[in-house]
Amino acid sequence: MNQVSVRIASLAESETLAMSQKSNELKAKGIDVINLSVGEPDFNTPEHIKDAAKKAIDDNFSFYTPVGGYLSLRKAICEKLKRENNLDYTPAQIVCSNGAKQSVCNTLLSVVNPGDEVIIPTPSWVSYVEMVKLAEGRVVEIHAGIEQDFKITPQQLEAAITPKSKAILLCSPSNPTGSVYSKIELERLANVLAKHPQITIISDEIYEHINYVGKHESIAQFENVRDRVVIINGVSKAYAMTGWRLGWIAAPKWLADACNKLQGQYTSAPSSIAQKAAEAAYLSSQKCITDMRQAFNRRRDLIVKLASEIEGLKVNKPDGAFYIFPKCSSYFGKSYNGKTINTSTDLAMFLLEEGHVASVGGVAFGAPDCIRFSYATSDENIIEAMSRVKATLAKLK
Ligand code: PMP
Ligand code: GLU
Repeated sequence: MNQVSVRIASLAESETLAMSQKSNELKAKGIDVINLSVGEPDFNTPEHIKDAAKKAIDDNFSFYTPVGGYLSLRKAICEKLKRENNLDYTPAQIVCSNGAKQSVCNTLLSVVNPGDEVIIPTPSWVSYVEMVKLAEGRVVEIHAGIEQDFKITPQQLEAAITPKSKAILLCSPSNPTGSVYSKIELERLANVLAKHPQITIISDEIYEHINYVGKHESIAQFENVRDRVVIINGVSKAYAMTGWRLGWIAAPKWLADACNKLQGQYTSAPSSIAQKAAEAAYLSSQKCITDMRQAFNRRRDLIVKLASEIEGLKVNKPDGAFYIFPKCSSYFGKSYNGKTINTSTDLAMFLLEEGHVASVGGVAFGAPDCIRFSYATSDENIIEAMSRVKATLAKLK
């Protein structure tokens, strides 16, 4: 008898990870699939970071660490926040976790009571809505379509706020759209939120360094909201360290304390070795970040050009992250070989099975008209994948 809890039964599976797994299964069967589904840098972790991890093993960093991470790592993160963002934090305000994914979830579980409203601008990353469900909160979506560059306006934000609003989840640069809020756009949102002191502002900045328009802007820079902002960040994207599982929050002390309490009962600290690797990442040369950003920038230009040549896709030109999120609804209702495409999930499956290109349908991101392609892969893969997508979509009549 299946006795799974209602909580888990009502939780959706992570669509990004599921599509990537499907793609890997097909590859294992010998099918040449190009995986543009999951979002992770295709670069290896830089050598000096790997060396620091090897040294940590030799130096016996093999014991339980403080729940929120070694003090030396939390100090290194404070240095990073000062150096790169001009923000002042103390190590007591930093909590390190098993990836930024756990950092977001810790934060939501620490602030949301059952029935509280959490505002999520959509399109949004697949896990936000499910995490709010885990916390028994109520999701209030603000939809921003491709015609407004997928960014919400202050007016939309004001209209979504109610006395039950407890938190908002902002993500810039954004997954899945790649949109980046400018300083002035963030300031305008901050001015709205300043009038509603009950709202905790969760600012997911994991794509901070994958930004093609210049300096990263954090909403935490604005004094009128600063004491309610929780920055989410980590080493996965900036230093090509997705598998190391190291993310963190920089938060008001009361919230950092709450996350420490939760994590202390749940997962303890992240791996000691990953912590020492992350410390080296923050304290040594940042050249690897610039090199990877340059490669992503070139690939962005390439995929935007090729995708724009595909009839039926309406393509945005993203300013950051490593995704394009074209509108694909012109294919809905079309068929091939008796198969009709009704949703973007159908389209993603069709592209996988017929074209051997893995992507993720927009439904999971709260944008059923769109489809996500990750371009964190080689130029050759991007060229071949877009050529397959073009040929496969042309079969739909
Ligand atoms: N936030 C966003 C917007 C993401 O795309 C991801 C996926 N990598 C995460 C958080 C989690 O990152 P990680 O757990 O690998 O640090
Ligand atoms: N964040 C990445 C993505 O959206 C990695 C997978 C995940 O954790 O969702 O593809």
